[in-house]
Amino acid sequence: MSGRRRWRALDLGTTFAYVEADASRVYCKQHRVVVAQVPWARHNSCFKIPFEDEVCWMAVNMTRKAVTELMRVTWRTGRDLQASGSTRRSPTATCSRA
Ligand SMILES: [Zn+2]
Repeated sequence: MSGRRRWRALDLGTTFAYVEADASRVYCKQHRVVVAQVPWARHNSCFKIPFEDEVCWMAVNMTRKAVTELMRVTWRTGRDLQASGSTRRSPTATCSRA
């Protein structure tokens, strides 16, 4: 995948927000040609890190209905973000906003 990529950011009020940037390719000895890492998003994610952290915190502390309505994501997306958050943190760590 190359060219322009888009990551969902925290909403600006009631407006959906995105960051869009060119996704440059780099060479890695182990994985060959891959899309370069960006500082605002985790590997293979189409969400900015603050968005993921917010959904993760909400999923732990709020009802499923509240998370999906406030963040305007499907429950599957929220569940996936929470799952990816729990695997990248140590077992004793909590969401950064918790
Ligand atoms: Zn690599």
